[in-house]
Amino acid sequence: MRIANGVYVLPIPRSLQEAGTFLNLTLIADEENGNTLIDAGLPDQTEAISVALGEAGIGVRDLRRIIFTHQDLDHVGSGAALVRQSGAQALAHSADAPYIEGRLRPLKPTPEMLEQRPQMREVLERLEPVNVDEQLENGSRLELVGGTRVIFTPGHTPGHISLYLERSKLLIAGDALTAERGHLNGPNPWATLDMHTAIESIRRLADLDVDTIICYHGGVVSEDTNGQLQRVIKETSRNHSE
Ligand SMILES: [Zn+2]
Repeated sequence: MRIANGVYVLPIPRSLQEAGTFLNLTLIADEENGNTLIDAGLPDQTEAISVALGEAGIGVRDLRRIIFTHQDLDHVGSGAALVRQSGAQALAHSADAPYIEGRLRPLKPTPEMLEQRPQMREVLERLEPVNVDEQLENGSRLELVGGTRVIFTPGHTPGHISLYLERSKLLIAGDALTAERGHLNGPNPWATLDMHTAIESIRRLADLDVDTIICYHGGVVSEDTNGQLQRVIKETSRNHSE
């Protein structure tokens, strides 16, 4: 689904068991600077990702880079396989890179999460590490579709990033925010390691002038986006104040 000039949302079914639940990858197609995929689904989803890329008119081989918003297994999942097929460069924030590369054990699922959802263990076992070719920092700027800025948004993980596309005022929020049928929400508290830091990160996002937000879990938000960001700050601060 094309949502701005050169920007496509690629909804990938999460699994056969969870029909109707999607992971929303983003493709940035820039004729001059090549195609960039934001996040890479769960392990063994290369086929579904390939089909979704095909609908946007490109093949896996046409990927020049993959940016991981963070280290979680539903974002890094098929990254290694996609890099093998495409030769794409992998980019991620320096604080999450060691986990993505397998030099450190992924922070999630935590032992408590595994206790509640033991089926995650099997998915974790299939997760392949990915070598990070370029480390990103807050404010890093990529020459994609008129300028794409890295916004450091830790909390969900220590090295979580969001991407702000300056020309289209589009925010790729990763898991810093979630959504439900156009209604913006804060990050999933169950899966967020440091909720206070995560709320500070939403404040950073609310400083931007945003027309459209893509949430990895929940898809596109385009109505009263700046207003919804302010509401989410209020709601999450209220729910998590001590
Ligand atoms: Zn996620």
